[in-house]
Amino acid sequence: MLTSLNEDKKIRQLRSLIDQAHRIVLIIHQSPDGDAVGSALAFQSVLQSLDKEVRVIAPDALLNSLLALPGAKDITDATRYPEFAKQLVSEAELIVCLDFNALSRIAPLSEAVAKASAPKVLIDHHLGPENFAQVCISHPQMCSTCFLLFKVLCALEMFTIINKDAAEFLLTGMMTDTGNFSYNCADPEIYIVIAELVRKGADKEDIYRRMFETHTENAIRLNSYALLKKMEVFAQYGAALITITRDELNRFHYTKGDTEGLVNRPLAIPGVVYSAFLREESGYVKVSMRSLGDFPVNILCQEHFGGGGHKNAAGGEFQGTLDQAASLFRSLLRTNKELYLSNHQ
Ligand code: 5GP
Ligand code: MN
Repeated sequence: MLTSLNEDKKIRQLRSLIDQAHRIVLIIHQSPDGDAVGSALAFQSVLQSLDKEVRVIAPDALLNSLLALPGAKDITDATRYPEFAKQLVSEAELIVCLDFNALSRIAPLSEAVAKASAPKVLIDHHLGPENFAQVCISHPQMCSTCFLLFKVLCALEMFTIINKDAAEFLLTGMMTDTGNFSYNCADPEIYIVIAELVRKGADKEDIYRRMFETHTENAIRLNSYALLKKMEVFAQYGAALITITRDELNRFHYTKGDTEGLVNRPLAIPGVVYSAFLREESGYVKVSMRSLGDFPVNILCQEHFGGGGHKNAAGGEFQGTLDQAASLFRSLLRTNKELYLSNHQ
């Protein structure tokens, strides 16, 4: 048996907002991941069963692996169709924000959503949600927004309308946010939810293959090159760094998503407890960090690399050159060790 979400008042409010709205817009964060897309498609499916008109908006394009999910091609890309996306936001009767905690995470839609007259609901598992939603269901200890959404749907008494597709969407988000249930998944209830989703027809093995074991030849070669030639290991500091320039990305015909998971690889090395991947973009550097145990990469990203996230998975956008970002990372190794690692190694 699943424990209760213990959000009775918010669930009642959400229920009545859903009852009162016909046009509902679901919004997810920039560079949407499996949890963002999975939670949006699952909620869309459930709300459509209630005869709601539901649109999903993403701030930018989806990865190919996620575009292949049923219905994902109908998600509005706000970078490609900015006016249409803003119109959907302004005409919505209810706006549900999924898998992000701050309006800055949905640029270029931040202002439109802030100004929208529709009531807003936030369902999310990131730390420190901003106060922009009338109903804020925030559970940072949970593994994924999809897991939280499952519990929300149960609390809304909508369990029975979760169909096979919705079950697959939810399982996709739970699986991708936990690295196929390899981290952030100590809560035994996760496995109860997996069992329920599998019972509804979700094909766990197929989702795993699609999400984790499907890569283009170019992507495999780029990742192999990055590990062979571009990985620095700072054994005495428990750290690793991978940097990739624009030229290198072009050489391997990089497309979005090709380096997904690369940042995790150095954590396999005994003694490495945090890892950074810096990818040169035009005008800034995309930062991605992962850690094991207590090392808080979200603090590192927040204080130095223009971002934030979870303790063990964080990211940011560094305003500067790739060399500057890499030098900064190296210059912080000693301090990081003194601050976080001295007692743990
Ligand atoms: P990834 O490394 O997969 O891009 O991101 C991992 C996690 O870091 C995300 O789930 C998100 O919580 C956080 N994150 C990534 N990029 C940013 C960013 O630019 N700003 C903030 N605040 N968080 C980010
Ligand atoms: Mn998530």
